Amino acid sequence: MKNFNNIKWGISQLVFLLITLFVSCSPEALVDLPPFSPTVEISSSVDAENPLMVSFTSKTTNAFTLTWDFGDGNSSNEPNPVHTYATGGDYAVMLTVVGEEGSIPAIAEKTVVVREKVSAKVTGSIIGHPGSWDGVNGLITTAFDGDLNTFVDAPGEFASTGFVGYDFGAENAPIIDLVKFAPRPGFEGRLVGGEIRGSNDPSLTEYTVLYTITEAPAAGELAEAPIAGGGSYQYVYYYTAPDGYCNIAELEFYGEFDLGLINMSNWTEEVVTPGISVTMTEYTINFSGGASDWPGSHIYQEISVEPGTYQLTGSVTVHSVINDVWSELIFSEQQPQAGQDYAPGIPYQVVYSTWNGSPTAPGTYSLGDTNRGGEFPVDGIYTFDAATTFYIVIKSGGAQPYDLTWNNLAFKKVR
Ligand code: CA
Repeated sequence: MKNFNNIKWGISQLVFLLITLFVSCSPEALVDLPPFSPTVEISSSVDAENPLMVSFTSKTTNAFTLTWDFGDGNSSNEPNPVHTYATGGDYAVMLTVVGEEGSIPAIAEKTVVVREKVSAKVTGSIIGHPGSWDGVNGLITTAFDGDLNTFVDAPGEFASTGFVGYDFGAENAPIIDLVKFAPRPGFEGRLVGGEIRGSNDPSLTEYTVLYTITEAPAAGELAEAPIAGGGSYQYVYYYTAPDGYCNIAELEFYGEFDLGLINMSNWTEEVVTPGISVTMTEYTINFSGGASDWPGSHIYQEISVEPGTYQLTGSVTVHSVINDVWSELIFSEQQPQAGQDYAPGIPYQVVYSTWNGSPTAPGTYSLGDTNRGGEFPVDGIYTFDAATTFYIVIKSGGAQPYDLTWNNLAFKKVR
């Protein structure tokens, strides 16, 4: 019965095909047939190791030529190119596909957000097994008290199931790229086989092993282990080795909260001293020119931040070292005025300064590497308790010709 039905269906299909062929071969149908226009879809993925490197993929039909515009002045005709951006930012990427003559080109657009890696110590709510072996000692909080002599010591029933770590919250879980850990003094071997795990499952039943400790770490110091993979986890924790009693003395996680860059492209130029030229792009500011005079020139932009923690990153290139070559980056509550110096009475904070004869050799220096007289913290982290609007000012100065560039300035929310 089944076979018979199939044969009957086959005959009706054949009849339909013959009619279709007959209609298609009529002269009118040939003349009216439009050219096949191309179609296109694009996707992209950021490299886990190099966040400036982006792989692009295209899916096209009827394409004769394709042209990628990466949004930074570069282009490619490859179907699936890999492109490395010079700096982080939001790039409008476009792929134009041209088909046969007379067809309509297809265009796909996408904004690609490229971040430069910003890693900072991250903290959350402490999680772990309950209790301690005598009600006080060995509590899980001892893994985060900054003391290498205090340690977690799981109660006996958790000798092989104890754990300690952070809950970072359901939103904005960080991408962990480094873990530091120190063992209980005298029991270093108990960490061998212990695991750093990441999980998005509140029961921690499902998890990913981010790192396994394979040899006893040195006593009295923090061991470091890079975490690859780029995953984002709400819960990140150390899970004890069998019979290890979760003997962690200190535990630190480092990673990236990708909460976005603050727009740094609204610079206003205030050339106080003639002869100084300031050239700017979104991430690069170059001061150069003839002898300047006090108070130099400055550029500035207004920045608004919501409460949270931010990281300022970037570098300064000194092209030639002359006495008193200097430039400062300042957070100011007041909009700079022409001819103004930052004198006492105007609320401001010098964040970064090359003042006082530094750097002493031409080169490129990260903020923090060479900072004299500023208040730039080692990790560039600033916390704002309330929504704040202020000015970022970059000031030139000195009584000498100079040639100095600020590069890749980025102000990013990290938590
Ligand atoms: Ca401790």
